[in-house]
Amino acid sequence: MSIHPQDAAVHQDRGGPRQALLEVRDLKKYFPVRAEGFSAQRRYVHAVDGVNFSVAKGQTLGIVGESGCGKSTTARLVAKLMEPDSGSMVFDGEGVEEFRGIALKDFRRNLQMVFQDSFASLNPRMTVAQTIAFGPKVHGMPDADANTLTRDLLSRVGMEPDQFGARYPHELSGGQRQRVNIARALAFDPRLLILDEAVAALDKSVQAQVLNLLQELKAERQLTYLFISHDLHVVHYISDQVMVMYLGQIVEIGPVDRIYGHSVHPYTQALLSAVPSMDPAHRTTSAPILGDPPNPINPPAGCRFHDRCPRAAAVCLSSAPSLMAVANQPEHQVACHINDPASGHPEVSP
Ligand code: SF4
Repeated sequence: MSIHPQDAAVHQDRGGPRQALLEVRDLKKYFPVRAEGFSAQRRYVHAVDGVNFSVAKGQTLGIVGESGCGKSTTARLVAKLMEPDSGSMVFDGEGVEEFRGIALKDFRRNLQMVFQDSFASLNPRMTVAQTIAFGPKVHGMPDADANTLTRDLLSRVGMEPDQFGARYPHELSGGQRQRVNIARALAFDPRLLILDEAVAALDKSVQAQVLNLLQELKAERQLTYLFISHDLHVVHYISDQVMVMYLGQIVEIGPVDRIYGHSVHPYTQALLSAVPSMDPAHRTTSAPILGDPPNPINPPAGCRFHDRCPRAAAVCLSSAPSLMAVANQPEHQVACHINDPASGHPEVSP
């Protein structure tokens, strides 16, 4: 059955395939931290610090980086689970900041999130069928239609409705619970799905099944994904574009083949070289990334990566690099002085 037939306008493609589904402009979120001792000075964690990106319709943008880099905060800002300090978002040509009341409700139905903790995401007192049908019923779908939709969605995510519909979350495996979470998200007929470490807690074989399911659903329903993960193998598999974050900022973004085959930023290169390879012919030869990320309350001046970067030069300590396209690769952008011919970095290519 078609989902939410009465709500077709809510989920309508407004700008055509060439218009990005989501554009994020200069998004910032600073969290205040408690002042120490007698200091009256307010200090802030720079969780997301001037992030710009867009996601084309039907594409998957993978977001990677060490924990604390701002990837999950970015996802929560996009989902409007928290308000940014500044910045703006455009969803299929319409400014999200102008959404109020009904329009904001519609935006939230167009965008659903699936989290890492499949158990905590589900109400332990609701059966699988009640969980999936709950949202559509709250939005006015008649019970009979919501129940039919629930059975369809359960079947689609690979769970036999008669076998699983009456079960409670504690009676399911982690993989089954995550399938329920996906079915519940799909019940709103979203256009954008944010998957925040959604397969991280699953063992490898179940992870592969859920990833394949996500790929099939994306093609069937023209979904767009924001896929947040610390697992670079998984991001490589599922993403069309990849965005690498470090200390609240984007350091490299581009098509998946460019990032995995021709990365330019020393941080991306270090992340990728730290991934274990199954192929003995491709053993790691360079040193993994050094030390821990600096304190996000006082990010280093200049390039935020300079105290861990093996290629840091004098300019890196004083001047922050801007995100710039790599030569002849307009979609591949890097924030590193090595990529900026005017920076004065000694390793800039002539
Ligand atoms: Fe390293 Fe300098 Fe590039 Fe930063 S700007 S990543 S410190 S080379």
